Amino acid sequence: MPDSDPNTLTDEASRVDGARASLEAALRSALGPKLRVTDPTTASAYEADQCLLAAHGAPSYVVHATEQDDVVNTLQVAHRFRTPVVSRGAGTGLTGGANAIDGCIVLNLAAMDRIVDIDPATRTARVEPGVINGVLDRAAAQQGLGYFPDPGSKDISTIGGNIATNAGGMCCVKYGVTRNHVAELTVVLADGQILRTGSRTRKNVTGLDLTSLIVGSEGTLGVITEATVWLHPRPTTASTVIALFPSLENAVASVDSITRSLLPAAAELMDAATVVAVNDFTGMGIDSRAEAVLLLRFDGSEVANAADAQQADELMTGHGAFEVFRTNDAAEGKELMAARAVALTALERKGATLLDDVAVPVHQLPALVTGVRHIARQQDVLIATFGHAADGNMHPTIVFDPADDSARQRAAAAFEDILHLAVRLGGVLSGEHGIGVLKQHHLDAQLDPVAREVMAKVKKALDPMGILNPGRSL
Ligand SMILES: Cc1cc2nc3c(=O)[nH]c(=O)nc-3n(C[C@H](O)[C@H](O)[C@H](O)COP(=O)(O)OP(=O)(O)OC[C@H]3O[C@@H](n4cnc5c(N)ncnc54)[C@H](O)[C@@H]3O)c2cc1C
Repeated sequence: MPDSDPNTLTDEASRVDGARASLEAALRSALGPKLRVTDPTTASAYEADQCLLAAHGAPSYVVHATEQDDVVNTLQVAHRFRTPVVSRGAGTGLTGGANAIDGCIVLNLAAMDRIVDIDPATRTARVEPGVINGVLDRAAAQQGLGYFPDPGSKDISTIGGNIATNAGGMCCVKYGVTRNHVAELTVVLADGQILRTGSRTRKNVTGLDLTSLIVGSEGTLGVITEATVWLHPRPTTASTVIALFPSLENAVASVDSITRSLLPAAAELMDAATVVAVNDFTGMGIDSRAEAVLLLRFDGSEVANAADAQQADELMTGHGAFEVFRTNDAAEGKELMAARAVALTALERKGATLLDDVAVPVHQLPALVTGVRHIARQQDVLIATFGHAADGNMHPTIVFDPADDSARQRAAAAFEDILHLAVRLGGVLSGEHGIGVLKQHHLDAQLDPVAREVMAKVKKALDPMGILNPGRSL
């Protein structure tokens, strides 16, 4: 190879410096003090989300947007300079979706956190993207309404992030995922144009459904600056059932027969390894003979809840549950459901965790769980499995010692094995957390080439310069 000419290198370096200075000047003039030029100490807070496995870079700039104009101005400049922009809500994502790319602009939307209005007549709320899910739900509760999507991160994640990832949670079996709760969106496109989608009518078949296209697009098609979401009358009573099974197969067979005749508001499964961690963490003392635990919640009228809980009890007993307990008391029910809610925290006490998120057709749950056990043996790692049984959406969680290189590698290998197992069973790479950086290189395992090509064309149409969250999700 010929030696590089030092003069050419110097020219190139001054061209890059000049381009950076022009970009910075344009951003400063558009944004003033809302722009922060990062240095290694201040950048770290905006470099990554909660995912341990996904790589991240260092942003050059962080924009703290407080209004839509900040987003428009940022994107207009970024588009002109072809600079990558990574949107960020609360950074609670589990796939590296909000991870910075070297030299990018991180667009922090957390401070756009106004609830613009709550309208009982249309049962909708209009919100900025940085509103925390639980804050909106509590505000709606003052009008007897509720915002139902309930990711485990409800009290720390934003509506914008939830919409961008199409977040799930426990109540999806009855109430659907985030997508089912979005009526209208305002989205700033890559070149700064403002797109408005959807309507406040319950029905709408006018044109293509661009709202659904944006939901779950993980910041790759536009930046959500406002959302109108559906609210619902708040259930005031609930019945809760906990059942202990001698095997996972018995528990899954119960879920199948329960969902054929009943509509629980939650149907959560925990395997034995999860139960051990929950017992250690909470001191709940769930019988250690249980190879699987099912937790069900029924909400609606008091009479219907109690009847449904009784029917579920009979079905589960018929499927071999050796202990079933049900309660109509709200506080007691909440305590029981807490066993599942703390599962991840309990496992985190045992080591570093890699939380996977796959979904399979419900009848394939036994094969998924058996396969995960096999992977755990093969890779010599502890995997505890819990999740949303009635959705077939499981979170096999790999627990490992982060200081042990070999354990880290085996954990990463197990994580990938689980993805491929799910796809082989007719399932998907992600049920609710999204693809982000973490699973991007596995997309071909699930999507056919034509689907990928169509997605690439949609991306190109909305973001021709490829500046929005490049290299992830699609
Ligand atoms: C303890 C814990 C429990 C969790 N439980 C669940 C669960 O039960 N179900 C579930 O689905 N997830 C769960 N998650 C994952 C995470 O909370 C969700 O993915 C959540 O929706 C991310 O919201 P966020 O505001 O933190 O977004 P971020 O992590 O900041 O961003 C997530 C993605 O959305 C994009 N984005 C953010 N805001 C916007 C915007 N305004 N416009 C365009 N793109 C945007 C980002 O670029 C990124 O790709 C959990 C996480 C934790 C830490």
